[in-house]
Amino acid sequence: MISSEAAPFAKTGGLADVVGALPAALAGLGDEVAVVLPRYRSIDLKQTRRVWDYLPVHFGPAIYTAAIYQAPAEYPVYLVDCPALFDRAGLYGEGNSDYPDNHVRFAMLARAALGIARGIFRTEIFHCHDWQAGLLPAYLRSTFALDPTYVGCRTVFTIHNLGYQGLFSKTAMPEIGVDPALYRPDGLEFYGNLSYLKSGIAFADALTTVSPTYAREIQTPEFGCGMDGALRARSGALTGILNGVDYEEWNPETDTHLPANYSAGDLSGKAACKRALLEEMGLPSDAMERPLFGIVSRFTGQKGTDLVAGVAAQIAAEDGYLVALGSGEPAHEAAFLEMQRAHPGRIAVRIGFDNRLAHRIEAGSDAFLMPSLYEPCGLNQIYSLRYGTVPVVRATGGLDDTIEEGTGFKFGPYSRDALWGAVQAAMDAYGQRSAWQDRMRRGMKKDFSWNASAAAYSLLYRQLLER
Ligand code: ADP
Repeated sequence: MISSEAAPFAKTGGLADVVGALPAALAGLGDEVAVVLPRYRSIDLKQTRRVWDYLPVHFGPAIYTAAIYQAPAEYPVYLVDCPALFDRAGLYGEGNSDYPDNHVRFAMLARAALGIARGIFRTEIFHCHDWQAGLLPAYLRSTFALDPTYVGCRTVFTIHNLGYQGLFSKTAMPEIGVDPALYRPDGLEFYGNLSYLKSGIAFADALTTVSPTYAREIQTPEFGCGMDGALRARSGALTGILNGVDYEEWNPETDTHLPANYSAGDLSGKAACKRALLEEMGLPSDAMERPLFGIVSRFTGQKGTDLVAGVAAQIAAEDGYLVALGSGEPAHEAAFLEMQRAHPGRIAVRIGFDNRLAHRIEAGSDAFLMPSLYEPCGLNQIYSLRYGTVPVVRATGGLDDTIEEGTGFKFGPYSRDALWGAVQAAMDAYGQRSAWQDRMRRGMKKDFSWNASAAAYSLLYRQLLER
């Protein structure tokens, strides 16, 4: 697996959760897996072992060198240590700007993975995640097409979020050592730019995305982010495999981040979690009797900030409460801070990335809001189910595939009124305590563990190798 993120090494979102958990599930099925990740500054090399001293990569006249470290894990995790490209404070950029050489950084990731496959981990399937690994299939189709090392190798490209396309100026082409002939509309070219995402779409043997509904949606202009034509052209190669979640990390019965544990059989600890969360967020204990909505999210246009802002006053007016944790685009962070300012004692917001608080919000809230504009799979609504925190979601992508009327509340149109309808239904339902608890328990019993997803990937690998 080639990825720019994997928990617990480097994480900004759901991609890290997936690449952090899928390999172990595949290993459990008997597949041999290794993960290739950049060694960012935040990854400590102390516990690791240096397994390769000198891996040179030529991009035209430029040469980059990496050392490869192996981290202790159930399966090999190879860290590509190229300080010139990865020894930086951020994963993709700092402040609000991307690093200007991201095209070289993630070309290097792909090339280092190919080097690892040549030198230390014989590979049959290159499973590439998101645009950061998107160039790898292009290298195999061009630079290494005749290289006996890779004969019979197959590639899988998984799209975790079509909104991130790895777009660069076409002037970057000579800096990444890809055959210029691949810069064409059915290749790397995307409206006059170079796209690493499109490279994956065009050249991988199989394409997957992280839910069946999103797999259908991205082939339409509404959700296709301009790539729908390219995806329709490869429709036969594209499937949706729903993400699993890691119930060792997200389980209210054992979660060490919580002030109290609980289960479907004994919900009493959840009240203690709510009480502690209210206190931590500075909300009054009156809220114990009223619905508390939770949000944990990257704060971006994708996640429906404008809709939340549109219903915040109504939630407060109807005696509801809201806690939100997130970070991201300044305008969206500001919108959340404004909700807090306008409704003190009703709405509490924390800007930042805080895994422990994310767990406490999942446990302490009564309901969880995810009014996403689009959602490839979404993990937080699945965690919410297990924590007995009733999801209120827009029926799109993986949200539609994982939430049913019996376990949550769904709305269709991306509008403030539609969200309000669902929130109001949840607030009304909250008043009927025993029916609410039945709904919680139904959600808590749902199983989205990795077994089923890993089996689907494993089958796909086998089908590709038989071709
Ligand atoms: P996405 O990948 O689009 O960000 P997902 O719901 O698939 O959305 O996954 C988000 C993951 O990142 C979850 O594990 C969630 O708990 C975590 N997360 C997002 N924002 C924060 C934050 N501010 N603090 C802690 N965890 C966060």
